[in-house]
Amino acid sequence: TAYGFREVGLGEKQGLVNEVFHKVAGRYDLMNDIMSVGLHRVWKDSMVAWLNPPKRPGWRVLDVAGGTGDVSFRIIEASQRNAHATILDINGSMLGVGQDRAAKRGLSEYTEFVEANAEELPFEDETFDAYTIAFGIRNVPRIDVALSEAYRVLKPGGRILVLEFSEVEMPVLDKVYEAWSFNAIPRIGDLVAGDGEPYRYLVESIRKFPDQKNFAAMIEKAGFERVTWRNYSGGIAALHSGWKL
Ligand code: SAM
Repeated sequence: TAYGFREVGLGEKQGLVNEVFHKVAGRYDLMNDIMSVGLHRVWKDSMVAWLNPPKRPGWRVLDVAGGTGDVSFRIIEASQRNAHATILDINGSMLGVGQDRAAKRGLSEYTEFVEANAEELPFEDETFDAYTIAFGIRNVPRIDVALSEAYRVLKPGGRILVLEFSEVEMPVLDKVYEAWSFNAIPRIGDLVAGDGEPYRYLVESIRKFPDQKNFAAMIEKAGFERVTWRNYSGGIAALHSGWKL
């Protein structure tokens, strides 16, 4: 049976996620563009604009589930090559692609790649000025644990930004989106990446993720304050923001 259409245990879930991203690492960026019809670029640009990293050295961001570095590279450029990004991912294949991309763009000196689990961050308390995670948190088996870890490693005054697929809040668009994600995306996965299964799993994980309001409550529960969110493209994605005060 298809991955996502049966209930999976926590350990098993991480295993499936790892398998998915190991398979797609080489074509991940291309697939992202096709499946989101390029929208992920606009959403990530907007995320980084909202973060507005300072243009001074010494500011550190931890980009969890950072994959191939897409968000981190934007942050570094937005800071006019001042910010330092730690790109953490559980998957070495994704990080490998990211490392090559950083080198090609001349960004290696501003980056560090760490293979680790979002639920168990290998950093001391109060290390980072910001914590970002884009399209990663819904893959983490215990989201509450990941959010507590985020809170722990942030400095007081630090900020969390979470970009994730969310609940479409526009009539008609929600139907179009359902058709696109359940039918088209796995088929494109088949054609371009040679396997539709991983994408079926990913689409299913989007459907299971809490809506905007419920996710905001989870962020608050981890200790964050002034939690707000913005919808993108009618709620296809949402960006949540919170502060460790
Ligand atoms: N942030 C990147 C972007 O927006 O292009 C990559 C997003 S990709 C959809 C999700 C990433 O989450 C994958 O690289 C995967 O390996 C990573 N991931 C899944 N579970 C994780 C975990 N428990 N801890 C850290 N990273 C994880």
